Amino acid sequence: MRESYCGLCDDCQLGHHGFLQTVARLKEYVTRFRANWWIHCFPGDETFDFVEFRKGLDWFLVHKDCPSCKGGRGTELCPIRDCATARGFENCSLCPDLEPCDKFDFLLAEFPDVKINLRRRRLKLKAREFHKRLEGNRK
Ligand code: SF4
Ligand code: SF4
Repeated sequence: MRESYCGLCDDCQLGHHGFLQTVARLKEYVTRFRANWWIHCFPGDETFDFVEFRKGLDWFLVHKDCPSCKGGRGTELCPIRDCATARGFENCSLCPDLEPCDKFDFLLAEFPDVKINLRRRRLKLKAREFHKRLEGNRK
């Protein structure tokens, strides 16, 4: 299972069967219909690098077994990972300072829900513990 301190790897779709199928079909489609030839109809600023686009599709098909942040990947010098490991938290949902924490600033533009998901995880954990205690009291 993929895991990270910020929670992003836990929901990552890289290597997901449906995603890979879609990428493989798109690759086949652009090859079969010689989509690279459409590019010359849109010169100047309207064009894009088709070779790089094909490389991108191949990249997704090859990098399907990412070991995740906790397995050794992730941004170098990540302030979230550095802080969570220094404080001994398995992930940031367990940190009492999650609300005011500003170490997520570099992620928020692209992933505005990252803290909300961690809060949800915290609540789920609390609910699970609560139900466990209830069951224990019944015995
Ligand atoms: S390196 Fe940082 S931002 Fe990337 S997944 Fe790990 S904790 Fe999250
Ligand atoms: S302060 Fe807490 S929430 Fe922020 S990065 Fe450190 S461990 Fe995570």
